[in-house]
Amino acid sequence: ELDVPESHPRYESLFTRHRIEEGVEKGITSKQGLIAEGRGEAFDYLLGERTIESADEAERVAAAHLLLADNPVLSVNGNVAALVPGEIVELAAATGADIEVNLFNRTDERMEAIDDHLREHGARNVKGLAGDGRIPGLDHERAKVDADGIGSADVVLVPLEDGDRAEALGEMGKTEIVIDLNPLSRSAQVAAVPIVDNVLRAVPNITVHARELADESDATLEAIVDGFDPDAALQAAEQAIRSGSPQ
Ligand code: ATP
Ligand code: MG
Repeated sequence: ELDVPESHPRYESLFTRHRIEEGVEKGITSKQGLIAEGRGEAFDYLLGERTIESADEAERVAAAHLLLADNPVLSVNGNVAALVPGEIVELAAATGADIEVNLFNRTDERMEAIDDHLREHGARNVKGLAGDGRIPGLDHERAKVDADGIGSADVVLVPLEDGDRAEALGEMGKTEIVIDLNPLSRSAQVAAVPIVDNVLRAVPNITVHARELADESDATLEAIVDGFDPDAALQAAEQAIRSGSPQ
């Protein structure tokens, strides 16, 4: 594992890099994933590597959406699998969601490596390998999803999704929850619930909220969902980045 003390001021970012490097070595993460990691790190640095208040609120709203959903799905790509495999399994258990491997650069080898990796972390029924459904408006390989997974989901959590696909999923009428450290990213801009936070912090915090909200009535959960303003959340994140202090 990483040979740096936890007290190191850059521990979290070094840990993240290490996980992504390992992901590439294991065939889980693509080389483009390394570049995405670099972009994310820069934004996290500007945010102060913390969960800002508006992101915590968005994470609670995400938990409410997942609990209310009929067919919630957590989409997993190579970076997510490398960074938070166990945390995704826990979130799926806390919300009754399915897990689906969903890659921008889809290869059978990488699909299977991620499937194995998630199973090693306790996942049982991982979707994505069938690829028998399509997202309209995207070219063939980019469009592939499972018909009984993302294809028929009403709520989808897509951490670090590509802008085009995020847009196409939204157009399918799905409620889209996006985790992306860049509030200016198209993915964040088209989301019903944009979460501007590191997946390392966001995924476990959605689980904490889901456990807290588990016994609430649908009416209470619906009120939480209805009270959310995605544009205000994006503005608060941008403000936090620009001012370098809490919004
Ligand atoms: P656009 O959405 O504007 O089309 P893009 O999808 O082409 O941009 P990518 O580099 O493919 O941009 O996307 C990577 C995104 O993931 C970046 O916005 C980056 O901030 C974000 N990101 C990377 N690592 C993390 C992380 N650990 N947690 C949250 N977000 C991250
Ligand atoms: Mg993006």
